[in-house]
Amino acid sequence: MLKKYKVSGRILFLLFFTAMVLTSFSQKPPAYDVIKTSAGNLEMHFIGHGSLMFDLDGFIIHVDPVSSMGSYENKPSADLILVTHEHYDHLDPDLIEKLRKENTLLFTNGNTAKTIKWAQAMTAGDHKTAGIVGVEAVPAYNILHMRAQGQPYHPKGVGIGFILTMGDKRIYVAGDTENTPEMKALKNIDVAFLPMNLPYTMTPEMVADAARAFRPRILYPYHFSETNTDKIVELLKDSNIEVRIRNLK
Ligand code: ZN
Ligand code: ZN
Repeated sequence: MLKKYKVSGRILFLLFFTAMVLTSFSQKPPAYDVIKTSAGNLEMHFIGHGSLMFDLDGFIIHVDPVSSMGSYENKPSADLILVTHEHYDHLDPDLIEKLRKENTLLFTNGNTAKTIKWAQAMTAGDHKTAGIVGVEAVPAYNILHMRAQGQPYHPKGVGIGFILTMGDKRIYVAGDTENTPEMKALKNIDVAFLPMNLPYTMTPEMVADAARAFRPRILYPYHFSETNTDKIVELLKDSNIEVRIRNLK
C-alpha cells in the first residue's frame, strides 16, 4: 500500500509539473501584436522598457531604440527613428547609427538634436511627415515627481511624446511623463503607450486617470520597471479600454 501511494504521488507531481510548464509557456506575452489600419497592417514590436518598433507594411519605425533594453538581433534598419528625450534609457547614439540607412529620418527633442547632428528637432505642437506616417510632438513632463531641490525629473518643455497617424489609426507613445492636462485632453487615440514607474513617471492610479480621460481603445502600460501590472488591469476592468500587458519592463 505504501509503495503504491509513493508511485501515484510521483505521477501526480509529474502531472502537476507538466501542467505548470505548459501554463508558463501559454502565458508568455507575445513579442508583437498586429492591428489593421487603412494604410496596411501595423505590427507593434515590444523590445523592452521604452523601446518599441513599428512595422507598417514594411515601413520601419524605431521608437527610443536602446540596446540594453532588449534584443535588436534580426531587427530591420529604420525608415524613421523617434527619440523622446536624451535620458540613457531612451537615447543610444551607437544603436541609432547601426539602425540608420540611406534616407533614415530622425525626429527628436531639442537636446537630442544637439547630440545627433542629422536629427530634426521637434517641440510640442510640431507636425512632420515621414513617408505615409504623420508625426505630432506632444508635451511630456512631471507635475508631482521631483528630484531634490524641486527640480522635476522631466521638466516641461524638454522631452516630448509622439502621436503617429498611420492610415485611419492614431498611436500615442507618451515618453516619460505624468498625466498632464495636455495628455488628458487628447482625442481619437486608438492605441496608447503610457509609462508607469516611480519616481520618474506615473503610478497605476495616474495611468488609469489619464486613460479614463482620453479613452484609448487599447492601452499598453510600458516603461513599468518593477511596478505591479495587476493594479492597472484592476483599475480599468470596468472601462471599455483593453489593457494589454507585454514585455515592456
Ligand atoms: Zn526620462
Ligand atoms: Zn525613461
